[in-house]
Amino acid sequence: MPVPMLDLVAQNVVVKQKILDGLSAITDRCTFVLGENVRGLESELADYCCTKYSVGMSSGTDALLVAMMALGIGSGDEIIIPSFTFFATGGVVARLGAKPVFADIDPQTFNATPSAIEAAITDRTKAIMPVHLFGQLADMPKIMEIANARGIPVIEDACQSLGAKGWGKNAGQFGQITGCSFYPTKNLGAFGDAGLALIRDNEELFRKIMRLRVHGMEPVYVHHEVGINGRLDEFQALVLRAKLPFLEEWHVGRRKNAQWYSENLQSLCPVDFQIPLEIVPNGRHIYNQFTVRIKKGRRDEFQNHLKAKGIGSSIFYPIPLHLQPCFEYLGYRNGSLPETELSAKEVISLPIYPEMTEEMLEEVASAVMGFFRA
Ligand SMILES: *Cc1c(COP(=O)(O)O)cnc(C)c1O
Repeated sequence: MPVPMLDLVAQNVVVKQKILDGLSAITDRCTFVLGENVRGLESELADYCCTKYSVGMSSGTDALLVAMMALGIGSGDEIIIPSFTFFATGGVVARLGAKPVFADIDPQTFNATPSAIEAAITDRTKAIMPVHLFGQLADMPKIMEIANARGIPVIEDACQSLGAKGWGKNAGQFGQITGCSFYPTKNLGAFGDAGLALIRDNEELFRKIMRLRVHGMEPVYVHHEVGINGRLDEFQALVLRAKLPFLEEWHVGRRKNAQWYSENLQSLCPVDFQIPLEIVPNGRHIYNQFTVRIKKGRRDEFQNHLKAKGIGSSIFYPIPLHLQPCFEYLGYRNGSLPETELSAKEVISLPIYPEMTEEMLEEVASAVMGFFRA
């Protein structure tokens, strides 16, 4: 039985009728952007994350971009980010003329370490943007302590981690501003691009982000700053509102699958294999990805083996940001960030979506075990 990396059909069956009814209402109402579904979604998600404000955005990338713009980040400023992340984290920094400064990661969680972040701080550091990679929070209490001691703002890249928890709080409750993504492969996925900026408690930042979303405009045709078109469509907000009541259940399903894998693949550890550990105290990993390490330089061979058995997998991410051609000018080299570079060579993500059956999990596990037994 083949097992795909992700299958959204089963999820869509559950919400299809609600979405079609809502689409019919949108068709009659002809409000296509920033309407009642967007406002409803914003208030539901601020509640869900326990933040004071939230602003629906056209994508996670745009949410991170307006977060940086609201903090006045621009040319010559340095922003500390991990290199082991999706490109958008670094792309938004460079697009504003600021300089990405990369912090190395913890080999177990794949998140930037507080000590690497602290070591990267200079007089020009204008923000720290940790990423909660794969669904687990970065070490936010320590990162906030380092940032607060120097008055440096923190933006959380929670694009993979809406609903992740740690230290008794939610993603979005630590930094001043947080970016979330609803790209279809995220735990809460739209039918296209969509995102969200969460603002922890600062009303001025909230007002600024509301304006930046519509070209810095308030009221109509008066422009206070040069913003972007970062508006969210009613249809995407409708899809997300239809799915939101199921999100907790889906997180639970992913966690159950992760638990199953951990128990059934434990015998491979630690010599050949590393399983993601849930190490954040008082928290919750939401497993947007179940990312393992294949050691001894055998990762690509392993992926080919899975493919031959009909098992889907993905590599997040094969080339870290500091080695991307577009960031060559920053002067990083192979060897600059050893843990990041090793992770890029060893990681592979296995299917983890909540609708997977036990037979499917067994199929994946037997293909994995088969590789090491051969
Ligand atoms: C998905 C993602 C983004 C970008 O979100 P989009 O909605 O695709 O623009 C940014 N950072 C990380 C870590 C992501 O996984």
